Amino acid sequence: MPVLEKVIDEVPVAGIQKLTLIDFPDHIAAVLFTSGCPWECRYCHNPDLRCYCSNPHISWNSIKDFLKSRKGYLDGIVISGGEPTFHSSLPELLKCIREIGYKTAIHTNGFYPHMLQMIIEKGLVDYIAMDIKGPPRAYDRITQCQGTCFPVSKSINMIISSGIKYEFRTTYHPSVLSEEELIDVMEAISCAGCKRYFLQQFQKKGVRDEELVKNYKIYRLPESAVKLGKDLFPEFGIR
Ligand code: SF4
Repeated sequence: MPVLEKVIDEVPVAGIQKLTLIDFPDHIAAVLFTSGCPWECRYCHNPDLRCYCSNPHISWNSIKDFLKSRKGYLDGIVISGGEPTFHSSLPELLKCIREIGYKTAIHTNGFYPHMLQMIIEKGLVDYIAMDIKGPPRAYDRITQCQGTCFPVSKSINMIISSGIKYEFRTTYHPSVLSEEELIDVMEAISCAGCKRYFLQQFQKKGVRDEELVKNYKIYRLPESAVKLGKDLFPEFGIR
């Protein structure tokens, strides 16, 4: 196998969504889902993708065939997960996708700012969507992982100052994040300079946490947060 293909195959793509109109604004896109994420958010709706090894991986040759077959129909490719920036060969994957002629977007939790910096500096990404799980004091609790807050803060500042289009978004479930914490995170991200922000309602599809699923209902987003979002952000939405 040629060296480059071997390197790209180190990014474990476990699934392809052939069409999305919402994950890459102003683009008709497909999504590649990578497996591997060190966090354990209770509301994760792709828990099968957390483990690097748990899914059969799609070869780069198959992905390349798919990408070439969709030229003219799609104009963007989103890399989601799992956590795409977990993988050291992500730059090579993005580079090859762009060489085929697509714009690229990534969805990230922001835990690997050095990788974000690399793909931004190399001009390998056109859109970054980053989750903000909560205010700094709540991060380790929500992600069930230690030491998450500092790298995430670095990523937020880097994305905002990068000149690349971006969005930040926070998922709300009252058993995971309090209204007060939600307000705090919105104020903090606004102070950091964020212009495009979304509140996301909890969805039970795929979620393994029994307590969250058992008590599932459509939780209304706190009115205080919706009002604040409209006041703080030039671009604000609810999903
Ligand atoms: S960061 Fe995303 S992929 Fe990782 S556990 Fe949390 S919700 Fe799931």
